[in-house]
Amino acid sequence: MEVLKTVKEVQDKVASLRSSGAEIGFVPTMGALHQGHLSLVGQCIADNDICIVSIFVNPTQFNNKEDLIKYPRTLERDSQYLEEAGVDFIFAPSEEEIYPEPDTRQFDFGQIDKVMEGVHRPGHFNGVAQVVSRLFDIVKPDRAYFGEKDFQQLAIIRAMVKQLALPVQIVPMPIVREASGLALSSRNERLTAKQKDIAVNISETLFESRQWMKSLPVQDTIKKVTDRLNSFDELSVEYYEIVDGYTLQPVKEWDDAAYIVGCIAVFCGEVRLIDNIVYKG
Ligand code: AMP
Repeated sequence: MEVLKTVKEVQDKVASLRSSGAEIGFVPTMGALHQGHLSLVGQCIADNDICIVSIFVNPTQFNNKEDLIKYPRTLERDSQYLEEAGVDFIFAPSEEEIYPEPDTRQFDFGQIDKVMEGVHRPGHFNGVAQVVSRLFDIVKPDRAYFGEKDFQQLAIIRAMVKQLALPVQIVPMPIVREASGLALSSRNERLTAKQKDIAVNISETLFESRQWMKSLPVQDTIKKVTDRLNSFDELSVEYYEIVDGYTLQPVKEWDDAAYIVGCIAVFCGEVRLIDNIVYKG
C-alpha cells in the first residue's frame, strides 16, 4: 500500500494503471475509520482491480467550526486498517492540494437538499458536492462506494453524478451497526461510555417504530419516536422525518410511496448523530 499526498501523484498512478486496463474503485472518507468504512473498502476491493481510499476532512462541508476542529483525526491507525484490508492506495491530501483556489461553485439539487440535513446544516451538501466532484475528477474511478448511513448524502451524490454526467457507478452499502444497534460513526468516538449507552436508544426506537407504523399514521409515528427519544437525558431530536426514499420529500400517508425511509438527527450531549430506517421498499 502506498500513501499518496499530491494530486499529481494520484493522476500519474491512475493514468498508468488505467492504460494497462485496470478498473479503479474509490472510497472517499474523512478518516477516523471504523467497520462501516471497512465494509465499503471490502466491497471496493472485491469489485475492482485497484482500490483507492481518500482521507480528507473537508472544511467546506462543515457548517459548524467547532465540529470541524473536534472531528477525530487518526491517520496512523487508519493506515494500518487499510493496509490490513488490502487497499492499494491511500490519498491523504492537504487542503491546498484539494482547493488550490477557493471553490466557489454552487450546486443546485432542487428539492433533495431542501429537507433534513439540507435545512439543518446549510451549505453542507454544497461542500460535499464540491469535494466529491473534485476527488472524482482527480481519481476518475469506475466505481465509488457510499454508505446508506448518510442516506441524503447518497441521494445528493447520485444527483450530482447525473447533473455532471460523470462516468462513475455509485455503489450504495448498508449501514453497519454495533452489536447494540448503534450505527457506527466516527463521531461515536466523542461520546462518553454513558452517552454511548444512551445513544443506543436511537436505533432501538427506530427498530421498534417499524411495529408502531402498523397501527399509527405517519405523523403519530414521528411524534412517538421524537417524544420517546427526547425523554432520555442527554438526547435531543433535531429532526425526525419520514420521507419518500427516492425524492426525500416527506410522506403524509404510508401509501404515498413505495419506498419509505425514516431519517433522524439527534444530539447526544454535544455530539450530533444521524441514523435511518427503511419502513417500506
Ligand atoms: P465519512 O468518513 O463519515 O465521510 O464516511 C465515509 C463513507 O463511509 C460515507 O459514504 C459514509 O456513508 C460511510 N459510512 C459511515 N458510517 C457508516 C456505517 N455505519 N455504515 C456504512 N457506511 C458508513
